[in-house]
Amino acid sequence: MKKISFLITAIIFIAFLSQSSANITVAHTLALPTDSIQKVEVDLVCKMKVKPTSSKSTVYNKKTYYFCSESCKQKFVAKPTNYVKNK
Ligand SMILES: [Zn+2]
Repeated sequence: MKKISFLITAIIFIAFLSQSSANITVAHTLALPTDSIQKVEVDLVCKMKVKPTSSKSTVYNKKTYYFCSESCKQKFVAKPTNYVKNK
């Protein structure tokens, strides 16, 4: 009996997962124009590529910078001159 209920839970879970991922795909297609999907920004703190849609962004010298995480953003905010080259 336990096995059957586990199986049912697994099926519901898989169905939920496939449905939610489909919804995410649809939402992305609707929200983003094709050209902005491929656009990436570089996290200046850890040099990781990040999507500009990230909420972890900050504005410095009238330019928006994007980060992979809140901690990278905090490091940048604390000392932006460490990461932005002044010309
Ligand atoms: Zn980072």
